[in-house]
Amino acid sequence: MKIYNTLTKKKEDFIPLEEGKVKMYVCGPTVYNLIHIGNARPMIIFDTVRRYFEYKGYEVNYVSNFTDVDDKIIAKAVEEGISSEEVSRRYIEECKKDMAGMNVRPATVHPQATQEIDGMIEMISTLIEKGFAYPAKDGTVYFRVKMDPSYGKLSHKNLEDLQSGFRSLKVSGEDQKEDPLDFVLWKPKKEGEPFWKSPWCDGRPGWHIECSVMSKKYLGEEIDIHAGGEDLIFPHHENEIAQSECCNGKPFAHYWMHNAFLNIDNRKMSKSLGNFFTVRDIGNLYDLQVLRFFMLNAHYRSPLNFCRDTEDASKDSMEASKASLTRLREAAARLKDVLKTGEEGTLTLEEETLVKEAEGFRAKFEEAMEDDFNTADALAAVFELAKFANTHVTENSGTAFAQALYHELEELTDVLGLSLDRKEEILDEEIENLIAERQAARKAKDFARADEIRGILLDKGIQLKDTREGVKWERV
Ligand code: AMP
Ligand code: ZN
Repeated sequence: MKIYNTLTKKKEDFIPLEEGKVKMYVCGPTVYNLIHIGNARPMIIFDTVRRYFEYKGYEVNYVSNFTDVDDKIIAKAVEEGISSEEVSRRYIEECKKDMAGMNVRPATVHPQATQEIDGMIEMISTLIEKGFAYPAKDGTVYFRVKMDPSYGKLSHKNLEDLQSGFRSLKVSGEDQKEDPLDFVLWKPKKEGEPFWKSPWCDGRPGWHIECSVMSKKYLGEEIDIHAGGEDLIFPHHENEIAQSECCNGKPFAHYWMHNAFLNIDNRKMSKSLGNFFTVRDIGNLYDLQVLRFFMLNAHYRSPLNFCRDTEDASKDSMEASKASLTRLREAAARLKDVLKTGEEGTLTLEEETLVKEAEGFRAKFEEAMEDDFNTADALAAVFELAKFANTHVTENSGTAFAQALYHELEELTDVLGLSLDRKEEILDEEIENLIAERQAARKAKDFARADEIRGILLDKGIQLKDTREGVKWERV
């Protein structure tokens, strides 16, 4: 299996640290809002990477954090007059719903920065003891970049270029740093902000130290894969390497994987440009499996353009992805029909040959995935298989033949996290009727039935919320 490693800028053979096991860390979102469709890209890509490793028989320890202490979270808390904890708790919950909609499996562990402060203080203390960090007068602790001879190896930047860039950007108030390149490990609290006690001052950790510590705690000092969006290469991942390797005296991650960005109408997605979409927005228009398909239909290291014009059925549009996913599901539904109506028995000789031929698509699928997770080519192999099934399975086929092809299709789509079962479309009117029935059940104190209806709706992707203004619902 080959993986493109940002560290070496090459595709390399994957050799795990421990045979049959993969230790993998993916930087997760900062939880101050609903996740946007850019955040969905690494979630879908690296969930697919994990699924492929598992398909190949690896045991994967997959850790992905939630950054739950951050300026943006604090700003949101102030705006709403609630605590930062309430903000992050709410958006972690919402994020998990979006992940479920996109068929992104929960990580083995989802650590939260605020629960890991002791480990951060410990790592910072070690870095100070070893001379890689120093506290300034106000209690801010900085990492001493010049002490790390390999600093810049991930982003392929050299220290001199970085220094000249930084000198011209010298920020006021930062003159307590020994060197403009030094970055923050711990910072003093400001009025009204969450803080923790530390040997240096009451304060909170810098963002980079969080991931070094959580990765070490849940995966160990040396891991196989560290991943995230390409914007994280510098400074976040570069700084993580500096902290972890200087503290532990070992290489940190062997393979660094980065997805390219998702753009909207060929422009960077941003609130100020008015082209900002949350996963929830898209979920209100499409089954989120369509979004997953859309992401997988491109190579993860190529920029992906999201066309807003839903009328445009060009290759990159969601409409095209919806149509393609429907074609796959129709092929699967045909096979299922034959499973119900076809004659039972064993494969005929001719069918046996065809099943062998169909296994060739699996080989093509694997070849694509082994080549740095080329999901677009893997999907093409799945479509060839679906077409093959459409051609060769007829109403007169036996169930054994339909079953063999269905099994192939199901296994491969499952690696991609695409489900072949179409969620039954549910109309607003049906939802309203079920809600009315639930209300009536509650009134009659038939809570079992009320809960049952809530469950039925959830299965159909409808989440109910009891609010002061009555029951509200949303598609999840
Ligand atoms: P953040 O919450 O900004 O730290 O981002 C969480 C993850 O989403 C990181 O891995 C980012 O690199 C990634 N990400 C953010 N925006 C985009 C985008 N437009 N396209 C692809 N990945 C993104
Ligand atoms: Zn991180």
